[in-house]
Amino acid sequence: MSEIRVRIAPSPSGFLHVGTARTAITNWLYARHTGGKFILRIEDTDAERSSDDMVQSIVDSLKWLGLEWDEGPYFQSQRNELYQTYIEKLLASGNAYRCFCTPEELQVKREAAQKNKTDYKYDRTCLNLTPDEVQQKIDAGMPSVVRVKVPEGETVYEDVVYGRMVKQNKDIEDFVVCRKDGRPLYNFVVVVDDHEMGITDIIRGNDHQTNTFKQVLIYEALDLSAPRFAHLPLIIDERKKKISKRDKAANASDYGQQGFLPEAVVNYLSMLGWSPKDDREIFSVSELVEAFDLKGINKSNAMFDQVKMNHFNGEHIKMKTDHELAVMVAPLMVQAEVYTKYGLETRWQYLMEVIGLLKGRANVLGDFVERGEYFFRAPTVYDEKGAAKHFLPENVERLQVLADRFEALDKFDHDNLEATLKGFAEENDIKTGQLIHPTRLAVSGMTKGPGMYEMLAVLGREETVARMRAAAEYIREKASAK
Ligand code: GLU
Repeated sequence: MSEIRVRIAPSPSGFLHVGTARTAITNWLYARHTGGKFILRIEDTDAERSSDDMVQSIVDSLKWLGLEWDEGPYFQSQRNELYQTYIEKLLASGNAYRCFCTPEELQVKREAAQKNKTDYKYDRTCLNLTPDEVQQKIDAGMPSVVRVKVPEGETVYEDVVYGRMVKQNKDIEDFVVCRKDGRPLYNFVVVVDDHEMGITDIIRGNDHQTNTFKQVLIYEALDLSAPRFAHLPLIIDERKKKISKRDKAANASDYGQQGFLPEAVVNYLSMLGWSPKDDREIFSVSELVEAFDLKGINKSNAMFDQVKMNHFNGEHIKMKTDHELAVMVAPLMVQAEVYTKYGLETRWQYLMEVIGLLKGRANVLGDFVERGEYFFRAPTVYDEKGAAKHFLPENVERLQVLADRFEALDKFDHDNLEATLKGFAEENDIKTGQLIHPTRLAVSGMTKGPGMYEMLAVLGREETVARMRAAAEYIREKASAK
C-alpha cells in the first residue's frame, strides 16, 4: 500500500471547534499509526469569514494538542491560480459549463417552483449555449458562474465507516463550482487540493456526507480517482443535540484554560466515535497511536460527556510526575494570587509535595489551586457548616494542648502525628474523629482534603501549630461574644 496521506482542513471562521479537534486527532492518529503524513490546510477561501487571528488560534490549539503536522499549513487563499487551471480543464472536458443566468432570473424560477410546490433545481438554461454564444456573452461583459453538468444515473462511493453510499443524480442540480467573480467554491477547491496533495484518505465529520457526492462528481468530471472516504459520527451534547457554539465544550481552544491536559483531551476526543478493540479507556498518546485503527470508528452519534472528560483528565494527571504538574500549576497559582512566582520557585520541593498529596483526586489543574491554597496561606475563613459542627467550646483547650504536643515532637511526620493524636483522644476518652475534624478545619479552613496526617506533615510543624492556636483563639472569641 502506498503511503497514507491525510489532512485536517479547518476553516478559520472561528476557534478550533471540538468536532474539528476530534477530526484532527483521528487523522493524526491514523497518520502516525500507519507511518503516513498529516497535512494542515487552512480553508480560507471565504475571505469575509476568515481572519488571521483565527488562523493563529487554530494553529496554536493544534500545537497545544501536540498534533504536529508534516506539511503545511497550506492556505487556499494563495492557490487561486491552480484552481483556475482546473476550472479551465473542467470546462474544456465538457463536464461543466458557464451559466449567465442572473440571480434575479433564478429567483423568479425558484419562486415559481415554490408556488407549484415542486422542488427547485436549476433548469439548465445555459447548458446548450454554443461556444459562439458563450463567447458573445463574455465579450458583452456578462458575468457567469461555472456549473458542473451532473450526468444521468447515480453517484456512488464506498465509505469506510458507513459502507456503500448512493445518491440518485436527478436529486443533484448542476451545482456551481466557481462564482461570477472568479472565486471557486468549497467542493471544488477541496477536490483540487486533495488531489494535488496526494491525499489518500479523507476522514472528516459526517456533516460532509452530502458534499462528498458532489466531490465524487467533480473527481469523475476531471477524470481523477477519488481518495477513500471515512465519515466520523456527529458529536452531540447531553441533550442529544449537536454541540452548539455556546456549549462550554465547543471550543477546543479553551480546554487548556479550563485546566485540561492535552494528552487527556486527545485521549477523550479520540474516543468520540472510535473504540479500541478492548474496553480500555485510558491511553497515553503513544498507546493511542499504537491502538488506532479505522475499523474501530462507529456510526452512531457520540455524546460529549463533561464528567467523563474530567475523569479522563484526572487519570492523566495521575500519570504526570509531581514536577511536571508543578510546572503547570505554578503559573495558575500566581495568576490566582495564591503565592508569588518567586516564592513558588524558592519552595519548589514543597510545591511538589503539595501536588503529590492532591493529585490522586484532582480532575482539572484548577483543583490544585483551589484545594492547595491553604498550603501557602493560612485560612482567613473557616467552612461555615464545618465550624458550626467542629469548632465547639471544648475544642479550645484540646486544640491548644494538641498543638503543644505536636510542637514538641522529635520528628514531625505522619506516624508521630497519628500516635500523638490517638494518645490524646484515648486520654480524654473521645473518638479520634473529634480531634481530626477540628484540627483539619483549623489548619485548612476546609472539611475535606487529603489524609490529615500527611497533610500536616507536608504543611510543617510551625505552620500547623500556629494555625491550631489561631483557631483555638477564634473559637474562644466566638464563644465569649455570645
Ligand atoms: N473546511 C471544512 C471544515 O472545516 C473541511 C472539510 C473537509 O474536511 O473536507 O469542516
